[in-house]
Amino acid sequence: MNRKKFIAALSLASTAHLSSASGQRFIKRQQPSSKKSKLGSSGFRLAHVTDPHISSRNNAPEKIAAAFRHIHDQKKSPIGILSGGDSIMDALRESKKNTKEQWRLWNDVVNSEVNLPLYPCIGNHDVWGWGMKEGQKDGGSYGKKWAMDELKLQDRYYSFSIQNWEFIVLDSVHPSFDTGSGYTARLDEEQFQWLENKLNNTSKEKHICILSHIPIISFCPFFDGPNEEKGKPNGWLVPHEWMHIDARRIKNLFKRHDNIRSCISGHIHLQDSVEYLGIKYFCNGALSGNWWNSQQPAYQEFKPAYAMLDFSSNGEIKRTMIPYDE
Ligand SMILES: [Zn+2]
Repeated sequence: MNRKKFIAALSLASTAHLSSASGQRFIKRQQPSSKKSKLGSSGFRLAHVTDPHISSRNNAPEKIAAAFRHIHDQKKSPIGILSGGDSIMDALRESKKNTKEQWRLWNDVVNSEVNLPLYPCIGNHDVWGWGMKEGQKDGGSYGKKWAMDELKLQDRYYSFSIQNWEFIVLDSVHPSFDTGSGYTARLDEEQFQWLENKLNNTSKEKHICILSHIPIISFCPFFDGPNEEKGKPNGWLVPHEWMHIDARRIKNLFKRHDNIRSCISGHIHLQDSVEYLGIKYFCNGALSGNWWNSQQPAYQEFKPAYAMLDFSSNGEIKRTMIPYDE
């Protein structure tokens, strides 16, 4: 199949004046109007593909190609694809040669199968070298630069508009070299300020949807690993890599903007839907399920799947998880 790929024109919104947090009045969140609530009839659809973790093993490239075909063959077509990160199996600890090969596989499948605008987000496993020991790292491609080049991203966080919706794509992955994983889930200060400006400068007439690789608020990180055992004797221990460690600060920022409708994420490979302070947080499983394990394709209860998102012009959003190989 030769499908032409269109890369979405990505633009980083220019920084405008900074309004102080303390000067903001708390705004009571307005629920989207349910009048004439016909999802899809006056809106649009986007697919959300996250955690495809491509490698040459376990027929991953063929399965990812099949998932993209499934998306394109939907009766009601999406008009774009949110690509949620962890596009490749791993670059945190892999050699340069293996990382290069994984990116080749990813770009091959995107070039041959995707003919919709693709809006990429950086995942932790897309970042080269952060999990390596000193001495194995190579200055030039170290960090996010390589991933951004492969994903054709000018900026690691950005925004774009579709109809009366504003989409904000964040970079959740922050280096953390004193922990084993090499990363933590949070926004750096520069990005937080950008987000605050972006929210302040987005018209209140627009609905906002935020995409991040790692969930900002989610329930399923509790069940990713034996976290109740790890936390003994004090209680649950949810790792800082599983959910934004700055979630409280972000939640407080979101309280000042009653047009934020939804936050979309992946990373955990489990699925949930959490409504908190009027915002719908969807953690959308993984295209790779259990990292393409052929004996056990599902991770806990969740099969390999992508999400279909219906955005309505009145601010409603509906998420449908689609296990594409059934
Ligand atoms: Zn991840």
